[in-house]
Amino acid sequence: MRRGALLFIVSFFLITVFLFPEDSKNSRLFLIPGSPRPGEPVTVILQDEEAQGAGLQAVLLRGRNRFSKAVFFDYDLEEGKTVKAALLAVPSTVLPGEASVRVERRNAGKEAVFLAEKPLGIAQRDFVSETITLNESLTRIRTESDPQKTAEAEQVWAIFNRTGNSILAEGYFGAPVGSTRRTSRFGDRRIFQYSNGKTDASIHAGVDYGVPKGTRVNACATGKVVLARSRIVTGNSVILEHLPGVYSLYYHLDSITCTEGQTLAAGERLGLSGATGLATGPHLHWEIRVSGENADPDAFISRPVLDKTTILEIIK
Ligand SMILES: [Zn+2]
Repeated sequence: MRRGALLFIVSFFLITVFLFPEDSKNSRLFLIPGSPRPGEPVTVILQDEEAQGAGLQAVLLRGRNRFSKAVFFDYDLEEGKTVKAALLAVPSTVLPGEASVRVERRNAGKEAVFLAEKPLGIAQRDFVSETITLNESLTRIRTESDPQKTAEAEQVWAIFNRTGNSILAEGYFGAPVGSTRRTSRFGDRRIFQYSNGKTDASIHAGVDYGVPKGTRVNACATGKVVLARSRIVTGNSVILEHLPGVYSLYYHLDSITCTEGQTLAAGERLGLSGATGLATGPHLHWEIRVSGENADPDAFISRPVLDKTTILEIIK
């Protein structure tokens, strides 16, 4: 290990111990995992008899910067044992180092009331850079303002900002296609090269699978279909709701085989892949949102975001 890295870890440990001493108020606040990488989801568990009522939220912050937030919901672990849970995502733009999760009550028109806080170490993560060249018609889809495009964007934001209370998908999520061929990863730093010579930078919000048109696309976990329609930028699109604030998105489909309002089981078909909307070739764009923030879909395959066994183990 390089000396710089060792020094970083030692100083991080010291800062954590001295700046954030455990007190009785913090002792019943749990963060899973304790040191996520940028893009990963964090399960916040609060055990506090007094923390009842509306307006309770968890905020990821460093200093005065508030990076993401999530509202709490009741989660029944077993007979007679209910905790408050909130699902946060660490944005891919957060730099490694010490951050924290604060629990506060925020009611309309009132100052936020502090309840508890716990340190969270953000681990190191490198992202790939790529340049994507767009022809004239694709340039137009991305750059031209269009009232319908704006209305469609507002519609999905209304969905992402909604935190329901149905818990449909505990445990591991699965990949939406059988293929493992990726053409873009989560968090890729992208430069769009437009046909008019201009460029624009953005960050890839999901994972792209380079699969042929007509490939079966499955629900990554049990979920309710909250959107199944054609959109200008993302083509034929499906959005599933799995957990409070947790949504999975499937874009550029050739056809949609589910309907809004329907509940799909994990692995059930929702459509066939294609190249509709802003796509330079056939692929499936798979994305997961957590309380409005982009999260790395792979993190849901490697670790359950809401898992009773893990939570019971940690809070005992
Ligand atoms: Zn994509």
